[in-house]
Amino acid sequence: MMLVPCPNCGPRNASDLRYVGESHSRPNPNEVTPQEWRTYLYMQDNPAGLLKETWYCRSGCRQYFTALRNTSTNEFTNHPLPGNKTGAVDPSFHYVSESKSDTNDGASS
Ligand SMILES: [Zn+2]
Repeated sequence: MMLVPCPNCGPRNASDLRYVGESHSRPNPNEVTPQEWRTYLYMQDNPAGLLKETWYCRSGCRQYFTALRNTSTNEFTNHPLPGNKTGAVDPSFHYVSESKSDTNDGASS
């Protein structure tokens, strides 16, 4: 089980959320070449390390948020304030996903 820190609901099981993908700034489609647009749509960095990614809290607050996760350890190193779609992060916040597997409190569905 991987706990994802929703900025509105708190830590939630990853199955309660939807992984949207890597967070990239969207280029203006009227100003980029078709190749640059295709790169934005389909090419991912997929690093083994820190990755800024977008999540959707589908079973809770139904809000999108951006979090910074280490893809090697699944540790979330920080998360944005609620409603912040720009991915701005608080560098003082440190969240570590716990690996408790059988501690479901039944609050989620
Ligand atoms: Zn939420």
